[in-house]
Amino acid sequence: MLDTDFFRRWMAATAAAVDREADRLTELDAAIGDADHGSNMRRGFAAVNDVLGKEAPRTPGTVLTLAGRHLISTVGGASGPLYGTLLRRTGKALGDATEVTPDQLADALGAGVAAVTQLGGAQAGDKTMLDALLPAVEVLGTSFEAARDAALAGALGTVPLRARKGRASYLGERSIGHQDPGAASSALLVGALAEAAG
Ligand code: ADP
Ligand code: MG
Ligand code: MG
Repeated sequence: MLDTDFFRRWMAATAAAVDREADRLTELDAAIGDADHGSNMRRGFAAVNDVLGKEAPRTPGTVLTLAGRHLISTVGGASGPLYGTLLRRTGKALGDATEVTPDQLADALGAGVAAVTQLGGAQAGDKTMLDALLPAVEVLGTSFEAARDAALAGALGTVPLRARKGRASYLGERSIGHQDPGAASSALLVGALAEAAG
């Protein structure tokens, strides 16, 4: 079972990974965007860490809804509302439970990813964070390691794709040959699940 503390560890591990990899995320965004994805994610998850330390939410669902709300309020740009919606909707789907199974988390994250699809209008293959998140959700019920590997493969798989959503889509063909920064950060978010569990 995954308790509230697991979800706090998940957010803390994500914040640490994003902080560690911020320069790489920004470099990826420099190639096909506006070179702010690393700083956006670092600022957002630092705020998440902060508020989780202060408010000590008591259920897995409230950890994620609180995190999502703070991502929306601290991160400008596309990724704030998208990641905020992902975590808020996932948290909402977990309801009031004080502990959840990995299968329940997989279902909830599936609902969160569906909300991102609805908000941003992107689909698989459009070279966005969804290309890491969708394959991860598919195998999350199996193991967190499988989800991490699927997200990483999905992120690397964005390299040959042409961007159809977001800032990178303005580049058209010139977006081909670069990894999508949001897919790279989503792989960090999913990878942090395995860290939180380990
Ligand atoms: P901005 O593009 O506003 O500077 P960021 O650089 O923080 O925001 O985030 C860019 C990332 O957001 C992209 O790499 C992509 O993964 C994701 N993204 C952008 N638009 C969409 C969308 N419509 N649907 C899903 N993800 C998107
Ligand atoms: Mg950017
Ligand atoms: Mg920007």
